[in-house]
Amino acid sequence: MVKARKYIVKQPFVGLPKREDFEIVEHQLPPIKNGEILVKVEWVSVDPYMRAYNGRFPTPYDQFGFNVGTVQDSKDPRYPVGRKVVTHKGWCDYTIANASSETDRVYKLPDLKGLNESLAVGAVGMPGATAYFGLLEICKPKAGETVVVTGAAGAVGTVVGQIAKIKGCTVIGFAGTDEKCQWLQSLGFDKAFNYKTVDASKVLKEAAPSGIDCYFDNVGGELSSIIISQMNVRGRVAVCGSISAYNDTSLPEATILQTYLVFKQLKIEGFIVDRWLGQWNVAFADIIGWIKSGKMKTQEHVTEGFDNIYDAFVGMLQGENTGKAVVKI
Ligand code: NDP
Repeated sequence: MVKARKYIVKQPFVGLPKREDFEIVEHQLPPIKNGEILVKVEWVSVDPYMRAYNGRFPTPYDQFGFNVGTVQDSKDPRYPVGRKVVTHKGWCDYTIANASSETDRVYKLPDLKGLNESLAVGAVGMPGATAYFGLLEICKPKAGETVVVTGAAGAVGTVVGQIAKIKGCTVIGFAGTDEKCQWLQSLGFDKAFNYKTVDASKVLKEAAPSGIDCYFDNVGGELSSIIISQMNVRGRVAVCGSISAYNDTSLPEATILQTYLVFKQLKIEGFIVDRWLGQWNVAFADIIGWIKSGKMKTQEHVTEGFDNIYDAFVGMLQGENTGKAVVKI
């Protein structure tokens, strides 16, 4: 019997999640049954969807999310002892998972060719697949076009901007600090602006005098409305997230964008990355190749320790991370 710890969400979040919304529970894991594996978790991911999905499930619930770990005991021959795996069992140090369960979402760690294993919850995990398919399948950028991405210095945004550069586009990013913007330019972004201090409408007119062809929207809100209002005819918008609204219930739920949609004949499409679940490996292979060849850079914001997952989570929601926010257990 293994003693394990996990985070439980005790009550719905109101605004920014509070420490007392969570409880760390110690429990004994039972012996594994046929089809199950016991996993020692080494990396835990903190992501905005953990905020956005709260309220859709009755509380209490185990905090879900992707993690990376090693199989310690196995009654599934596909996942022998020692195998590195990704699971969706959330914020825990040990867990029992079943690869046949849709919610446990167990899969073998891709061959990372020597890259950090934590990338399996970042650029070579769900956020990387989100960037890859959202940009390439919905925006479909062509060489020479102008791509704008918000949340540009985060897990998804950094990958979006760098793929757009690889595809020969001009790339403009928006992020929340001057330091993040400087870093984005060091990654090859043509321009990066601090949305908290600039007049977005003005800087966009200067940076994209011929207009915007593709917009990868991570944040929603007024910034997105400004960007969409400056798009070219037949522009494409991939709506990935709306983090500006996750903790702020005072925002209006809609802005009048129809005028631009009609006269510019825009395509605006929301998506969930699971739409391409069967093809994530295609994205991972390309992204690993780009990282190994130096065309793409990755950065992680690492928090140490199981007890600090809550701090990592709210820190990420408040913009403390540059690159992917992860916790080393
Ligand atoms: P990030 O690594 O980008 O972290 C979140 C970032 O959001 C923060 O660092 C902060 O950076 C920014 N932020 C916080 N509040 C605001 C605000 N009010 N306005 C603008 N930016 C804000 O997270 P991810 O890359 O993991 O996720 C980015 C987006 O993608 C989220 O909206 C998420 O929900 C979405 N997503 C959607 C998926 C899908 O399938 N559709 C899958 C995965 C993610 P800053 O300093 O710039 O403010």
